[in-house]
Amino acid sequence: MTDVTATPPTDERPWLDASLPVEERIDLLMTAMTLAEKVGQTHQVANIDPDADAAEIASGRISSSLYASGPTGGNERDEGVLVGNIDAAQRHAVEGSRLGIPLLFGRDVIHGHRTVCPIPLGIAASFDPDVAEEIGELAAREAVVDGVAWTFAPMVDISEEPRWGRVAESLGETPVLAGRVAAGLVRGFQGDDVSDPDRLAACAKHFAGYGLSAGGRDYDTVSVGENTLRNLHLRPFKWAVDAGVTTVMAAFNDVDGTPMHAHEHLLRDVLKGEWGFDGMVVADWNGVGQLVNAGVAADLREAAVLAIRAGVDLDMCGGAYLTHLEELVESGEVDVALVDDAVRRVLRLKFRLGLFERPYAARPGASNAPTAESRAVALRAAQAAHVLVKNDGVLPLDASPDGGSVLLSGAFVDEGDALLGTWVLDGRGEDVVSPGAAMRARLGDRVTVADGRFSDVTLQQARRAQTSVLLLGEHPSRSGEAQSVTDIGLPHGQLDVLRAVARLGKQVVAVVYTGRPLDLSEVLDLADAVLVVWHPGVEAGNALVSVLLGDIEPHGRLPMTFLLSTGHIPTSTHQRPTGRLIRADVDHEEGRYIDALTYPRLPFGFGLSYTSVEYGAPVVSSPTLPVGGSVTLTVTVTNAGDRPCREVVQLYFRDPVAEVTRPLVELTDWALVDLEPGQAREVTFDVDAEQTAYAGRDLTTRVDEGEIVLLTGPDSARLQSVSITVRNDS
Ligand code: BGC
Repeated sequence: MTDVTATPPTDERPWLDASLPVEERIDLLMTAMTLAEKVGQTHQVANIDPDADAAEIASGRISSSLYASGPTGGNERDEGVLVGNIDAAQRHAVEGSRLGIPLLFGRDVIHGHRTVCPIPLGIAASFDPDVAEEIGELAAREAVVDGVAWTFAPMVDISEEPRWGRVAESLGETPVLAGRVAAGLVRGFQGDDVSDPDRLAACAKHFAGYGLSAGGRDYDTVSVGENTLRNLHLRPFKWAVDAGVTTVMAAFNDVDGTPMHAHEHLLRDVLKGEWGFDGMVVADWNGVGQLVNAGVAADLREAAVLAIRAGVDLDMCGGAYLTHLEELVESGEVDVALVDDAVRRVLRLKFRLGLFERPYAARPGASNAPTAESRAVALRAAQAAHVLVKNDGVLPLDASPDGGSVLLSGAFVDEGDALLGTWVLDGRGEDVVSPGAAMRARLGDRVTVADGRFSDVTLQQARRAQTSVLLLGEHPSRSGEAQSVTDIGLPHGQLDVLRAVARLGKQVVAVVYTGRPLDLSEVLDLADAVLVVWHPGVEAGNALVSVLLGDIEPHGRLPMTFLLSTGHIPTSTHQRPTGRLIRADVDHEEGRYIDALTYPRLPFGFGLSYTSVEYGAPVVSSPTLPVGGSVTLTVTVTNAGDRPCREVVQLYFRDPVAEVTRPLVELTDWALVDLEPGQAREVTFDVDAEQTAYAGRDLTTRVDEGEIVLLTGPDSARLQSVSITVRNDS
């Protein structure tokens, strides 16, 4: 494979002059394009085959592809196959087509490419956009080696519904957390300039409301008003757009009867108009074609009309555009300006990526297998994702050679693939350092590692061990796309084992691998310590051992509320007041359940460290906050224990009187604060009136005068408040 340098501009191909502004290059190219070639630029295939598709590519009828497994029987995961096929297909486009427009290779590089990092919900648990950025950057660096130029990540759907399998791919239930972590990922994927050969284009998905799919069933319908969309679900997308994300993917769901692939108002008016998004909107997999199944289009032809009008620029895998757009324009049913707008956006991305200058894989022939450096990123990310949710003094385990015997048992002990999580196309189970391997390496004879299954043998071994570490939770095939469940309890049988081991009266540590908030009520009652670790990636074992033995202080926090039972769904931190429910922390108010308590089992933002941190009362620099100005809020946090920690100091607010019902508490900021034992630090937040902005009854954004309650604390349920008054002096 040779690294091909750019074809120089000629009179026939003046758009290859990289010194010209992108928009001018697009103009020059589009002037040279036939309608058929334009339509070709709106068509993405599922799996390009450089041999079978050679003629189609050369005729300019393919713009992009997701997979490239090549001739039948080819396996992309075999060394060199993916990049070889991408390279060969690209050659047909660049050297064999009339205009030489390069293909765009997209791929689901969701939480790492070869070096797999924690699932996105785990990334969000870090509360650390810098960790997200590092992961994005690493994933990009590895993916470009295979010729990939674009990733379908981050997913920023607000996720309040633990039955929905895709919460694993999400960044949690809160706009500010999801938005900031998404912005970190976007920065990591795209860099300062997406034309950097080591970066990828990113994609904020799925626009919009997908997290509200009825009953947590994937692909289901969504009934939501635009006010809730704007105040909650659209916000992380806006964050991603402001961070410069170059593409957005339409969602499979409808919104109140209008499928998103036909939603002209949200895609064209809001995203592209109001927000000024000049990037590309891609359909989700056959999302245009599925307008027929949804019953809003009679056939593919009509589906193409609806989607191009709505503002879907690139048709993923369905072929509706390729088959019908040309004729629709010729017959006058679709204005060519709509096609031109779509093509312009596709080409803008290709120019921005530098594909015309560098169409082929960066560093051809290089390996992207995990290295010490990439593993260090994955380890830090996995450690940051560990959330300690209970500790009766058992942890950290004594790391000294005579620290007592430990049994490690459970389904994830010596697993590879199961620790990687959902959406792993290129990672490999054999790259994983398992908990069993890491524990053996660290504790030697002190640890007994039982085989992957619980059995009577486990019980006998637990009887002999001082501490049993039980690895519980869900296999990743139980979360992710199309993996919805009706019960958020642990998989069958695991509680029985925990109960039996707990009855022995020895110390029990439960480690929970999961892609969703599970009902951990009984686990929390029975185990002495509980760690939620999601699906942590290739460094799963090393991360776990470092946290269990206290090399690292646990500092992750829950990005979603953990409920008492499946029957409590939906409940999230964004609960809004009603006529009869005005406080989040009061149980058994009228209208709540009569057969159960109603507080969350573990609130949003919750997580412990190996020390205890005390919070002083928040103090503001001024009781009034002028619109356009800011106040500072200061809170003193003190490490009252004898170990260092990283505390996630959280700032929430409540707007007691607004035009519409507003959340009882809403996260607005946080700070990661390192504290030595005994150390006290003042943590200061700048608060400006814009942070209280919301969409009012007329859907425009407004900032109200009047009282705002600011609340600080270690999580969304343990908060101390101070009030300020927003005043408009202008
Ligand atoms: C998913 C997207 C994904 C796409 C391409 C769809 O089924 O909803 O999130 O990016 O497939 O693989």
